[in-house]
Amino acid sequence: MPADDFLKLLTAAQQYLDEGSAHLPPNPAPQLGESASAILHQVAERLHDNYPYAHPLYAGQMLKPPHPIARAAYALAMSVNPNNHALDGGRASSAMEIEAVAAIAKMFHWPQHLGHLSSGGTFANLEALWVAGQLMPGKAIAASDQAHYTHSRISSVLGLPFVTIPSDARGRMDLAALEQLLATKNIGTVVVTLGTTAIGSVDPLDHVLTLQKKYEFRIHVDAAYGGYFTLASNLSPETRAAFDAIPDADSIVIDPHKHGLQPYGCGSILFRDPTVGRFYKHDSPYTYFSSKDLHLGEISLECSRAGASAVALWATQQLLPYTPGGVFARGLESGHAAALELHRRLTGSSQFLTPSSQPQLDIVFWAANAPTPEASSVLAQSIFDEAAKIDLHIALAKLPARFFPQDTWKDTSPKNTEINVTCLRSVLMKPEHLLWLDHLWQRLETAAGTVTGQYPNRTNVT
Ligand SMILES: *Cc1c(COP(=O)(O)O)cnc(C)c1O
Repeated sequence: MPADDFLKLLTAAQQYLDEGSAHLPPNPAPQLGESASAILHQVAERLHDNYPYAHPLYAGQMLKPPHPIARAAYALAMSVNPNNHALDGGRASSAMEIEAVAAIAKMFHWPQHLGHLSSGGTFANLEALWVAGQLMPGKAIAASDQAHYTHSRISSVLGLPFVTIPSDARGRMDLAALEQLLATKNIGTVVVTLGTTAIGSVDPLDHVLTLQKKYEFRIHVDAAYGGYFTLASNLSPETRAAFDAIPDADSIVIDPHKHGLQPYGCGSILFRDPTVGRFYKHDSPYTYFSSKDLHLGEISLECSRAGASAVALWATQQLLPYTPGGVFARGLESGHAAALELHRRLTGSSQFLTPSSQPQLDIVFWAANAPTPEASSVLAQSIFDEAAKIDLHIALAKLPARFFPQDTWKDTSPKNTEINVTCLRSVLMKPEHLLWLDHLWQRLETAAGTVTGQYPNRTNVT
């Protein structure tokens, strides 16, 4: 949206919002003063020092620009600055939070839930494991070696034992290893990651659920990054099966600030059993004296929370509802399609080495073609640097060599399954990435060609 249209939209809505308090004696805002413009220009100057995150040529880390409707709604809410700690601090925004979280629950086909927004996935996961620890006292949290590192740290904060489950050659939780662990009866909760942060692999939640018939444990789904893919119609059957099992999990984390087009500061945690609210119970003498309804502050560990986050999410959901086949769902489908296409091109190129399996979501990783993991790692760094010079921003990730077919590096001796290789990585999470794939590919080939001196047979465009 052009900046002018955005500001016009916002100005009109702000005037309408201000009419709500027009009956009060005027209370003019503080004068900005003469230096304000210069200061804001300084801010703009400082902000030049960033990668162009919002542009499709930025295809590196997990960064997606917020939707203009989210920015506008957030800005509007800032003039109220509601605090969703309690209804007294943010009446409308608390109601909008409850509706926005219900929309997430509905997307996952949960008939009932207890949940709220959080500052991000870390705090949301903390609440999930905190409740899990209360329900399974003394028992361990288990997560795969590809789960977010936050789980082992959170377990340490909560004083809960933590066990790592190995992942298979595709980065998914190894079910045989999980079952061995469950047989020890020391595991209270298994963290199942639907979309790992490094490579977008999807743990087989459907199979983990089957194990619940034999062993007693809770299942917490960490879908901070991948959760919205449940709306996509083009996932592989096994990936689909994992997402379709979400209704039977005990708790789930999803970050609207990852794939949900929100500014940072918007995660969420949902519990399937609303009675876990009892663990949050507290007696605050001062916050809740005038409201009788449900207080979000009573079901959240965080106290003050940005009501503006709830307003922005609510507005985005009105414009882009979570419906299969809708605009929002199609955006996720196009990211997955772009990842499959990039993987296909990489596999056909002599410059690169690709892992054993196709991307499950929208993250692609690959290695530079060299005889040893060490040489591949050095080359990847050079290609990364060269690509940035021609405005293609991808990422680097140190990943296990076992994610690649066994004969990828002939010189991998002695045979060590835990050798790491620095890979190139791209998160194709913008709906436009599919349209931009030729541009991305040409620049990637050019960068690799510049580094190796080997150009593909056709002319390159930069
Ligand atoms: C991003 C992420 C987290 C951490 O969430 P933040 O919002 O960064 O705090 C946890 N788990 C997974 C799978 C993630 O992708």
